[in-house]
Amino acid sequence: MPAPELSDPSLKKQLSFFCGEWRAAASGDSFPVFNPASGSQIAAVPSLSAPEVNEAVEFAADAMRAWSEVPAPRRAALLRAWFEEINRHSADLALLLTLEQGKPLAEALGEIAYGASYIEWFSEEAKRLYGEMIPAPSNDRRILVIRQPVGVCAAITPWNFPNAMITRKVAPALAAGCSIVVKPASQTPLSALALAELASRAGLPPGVLSVVTGEASTVGTALLRHPLVRKVTFTGSTETGKKILEECAKSVKKVTMELGGNAPFLVFSDADLDAAVEGLMASKFRNSGQTCVCANRVFVEECVLEPFLAKLLPAVKNLCIGNGWENGTTQGPLIDDSALRKVESLVENAKSLGASVLLGGKRASNENQFFLPTVLTNCHHDMALAKEEIFGPVAAIFSFHSEEEAIRAANASPVGLAAYFYSRDIGKIWRVAEALEVGMVGVNTGTISNAMAPFGGIKESGFGREGSKYGIEDYTNLKYICMAGISS
Ligand code: ADP
Repeated sequence: MPAPELSDPSLKKQLSFFCGEWRAAASGDSFPVFNPASGSQIAAVPSLSAPEVNEAVEFAADAMRAWSEVPAPRRAALLRAWFEEINRHSADLALLLTLEQGKPLAEALGEIAYGASYIEWFSEEAKRLYGEMIPAPSNDRRILVIRQPVGVCAAITPWNFPNAMITRKVAPALAAGCSIVVKPASQTPLSALALAELASRAGLPPGVLSVVTGEASTVGTALLRHPLVRKVTFTGSTETGKKILEECAKSVKKVTMELGGNAPFLVFSDADLDAAVEGLMASKFRNSGQTCVCANRVFVEECVLEPFLAKLLPAVKNLCIGNGWENGTTQGPLIDDSALRKVESLVENAKSLGASVLLGGKRASNENQFFLPTVLTNCHHDMALAKEEIFGPVAAIFSFHSEEEAIRAANASPVGLAAYFYSRDIGKIWRVAEALEVGMVGVNTGTISNAMAPFGGIKESGFGREGSKYGIEDYTNLKYICMAGISS
């Protein structure tokens, strides 16, 4: 079945957006964007050079001077207008997202609403960027603290949520009075460019939001090296995050790092097993397992393993792979061939070390990038999938005998983004929630992310928070003003 058409084809942009205009690369170079479900090319976007990125940053710095002086209620209103433009075009944005990323249309629509909710939230927070008065050590002075925009920001974003990973960064930056230059993932630039088009239609001033496309090594590096970029916000792998941190250290940029996870999902014997299966399906198989908060290691208390699997297997069998825009599809393709090969090698490694394949375990028989929804049991800590993010539709089931053993196993990872557990014992719930070494815990739920809550990790999952009242802090500098001579 052919893909449907956009109702507003002008949302499919094949130019970069910077210096207040839509531009091709001066060199004429571009790179292709593919539909991962069919492998066919759907667009080509510019491969910008470092001087072009520098120009974008310098224009953004000029734009920011005026933007930071726009009164907060006006900035809030412009963000709100952007939010409304997105809602008006949500069907087209979802379709573009599905075409370049592969996720089912229903999930894409969910991402558009979720992404937009950050713009709504931070449009409101723009008006609440309060300072503080602190009791002074003597009567002749006052201690004031104000918040000021940090400067031009650079956002480097991944392909798994091509819309929401951008709005989560751009909205607080703009709310705080910063300008921001976004480098979207090369696999999924179209969602970013459509967001920029709608921002422009909503009346956001030129240069406040730019989207620059091209090679990570050229565009990313130029952003990281530019002295006018004062803040870098990154979502992606821990490996790439470490390289970005090294680069940012050279000019001491402020950084937010949303890096990889290895979420444990614990099912205790007193859990509501139906709820646990429902939570696992949402956490594990959403986006075909390609999310950083996906359940990566599923620990089930030995005495309920059998009844848990008896409920899980039919739910996984019900999943339906296919083109994201087709009715009934619940599982899209993996993003590219290297993602597919990685999942394959993790499953092969687990099998060679004793895992049993209860379902799936291999590519789908078509020639495209689909991996069958998979359930593995008898998993253990020495397998590569216990240490690495699977990033695919593979539920790896481990078992445990005690609360203590479960917590120790869950925490045996250098990363700490999200964790989930199911129990109905209130004492255990507090003990386990407090003992898990992660930034976010879902108790009796497999879905935790929303604009009101602080999203982020600890350990090698990074630092900084996105969403919530905390999410705007990283886009501001605190300034202390000591006002003396008051009593004379
Ligand atoms: P993945 O491996 O899943 O593609 P990455 O963490 O490598 O995830 O990529 C996330 C984002 O970081 C993408 O936009 C990518 O282009 C960008 N990126 C990758 N390497 C670098 C780098 N060395 N410098 C700047 N950006 C980079």
